[in-house]
Amino acid sequence: MTEIRHHLTDALLMGYSAGTLPEGFNLVVATHISLCDECRARMHAFDNVGGGIVDNETPEPMSMDSLNQTLDLIEAGDIAQQAAEAVSPTDTLNRRADTDVLPAPLQQYVGGDLDAVKWRKVGGGVQQAILKTDTSATVRLLRIPAGTAVPDHGHRGTELTLVLQGAFRDETDRFGTGDIEVANEDLDHQPIAEDGEDCICLAATDAPLRFNSWIPRIAQPFLRI
Ligand code: ZN
Ligand code: ZN
Repeated sequence: MTEIRHHLTDALLMGYSAGTLPEGFNLVVATHISLCDECRARMHAFDNVGGGIVDNETPEPMSMDSLNQTLDLIEAGDIAQQAAEAVSPTDTLNRRADTDVLPAPLQQYVGGDLDAVKWRKVGGGVQQAILKTDTSATVRLLRIPAGTAVPDHGHRGTELTLVLQGAFRDETDRFGTGDIEVANEDLDHQPIAEDGEDCICLAATDAPLRFNSWIPRIAQPFLRI
């Protein structure tokens, strides 16, 4: 894997650690952490701080379900990490490239690797598969053919996009495999998959996107984007 240049924000890591994020965001965070040693270390630091805060304040009630889910995701990440380390650090890159496109936390939701994904066409050659989570956020896998643009759009809430294969560019930067883009109301962008390889992303949104042309707007309710 190429070097990861775009990481999780502190707010996301803290929310994940405290169990306050929507399930769909937890999945994106857990998947990035399973790929990224740096964010993994930062997350563990927040876990330790978080324990101290909870001791001193009235804890927010949190459903056991979401706690267990988060723990499961962390555990899946840990197992993946241990497996990767057991192989030896230098083998990890090749091993991942040869076998799994989807990291362990994601495979739990898909029920397998890439060949288990039930893709649906959303127009322009782009395919998506919406993953089953609670309704606080929508999380989907996107497959964007090499060289293809996604309709330009703005955001009503937060959009997390994690690259699993290939790369895309938008007005802000280039995002390669393992990179995460955190977009919010301030950003209008048109992601374009790089030439050479289809770009596969995991994307989560907590509010519908704002499309700047009318064709995606008409399709929006049907595609849940
Ligand atoms: Zn990171
Ligand atoms: Zn976006």
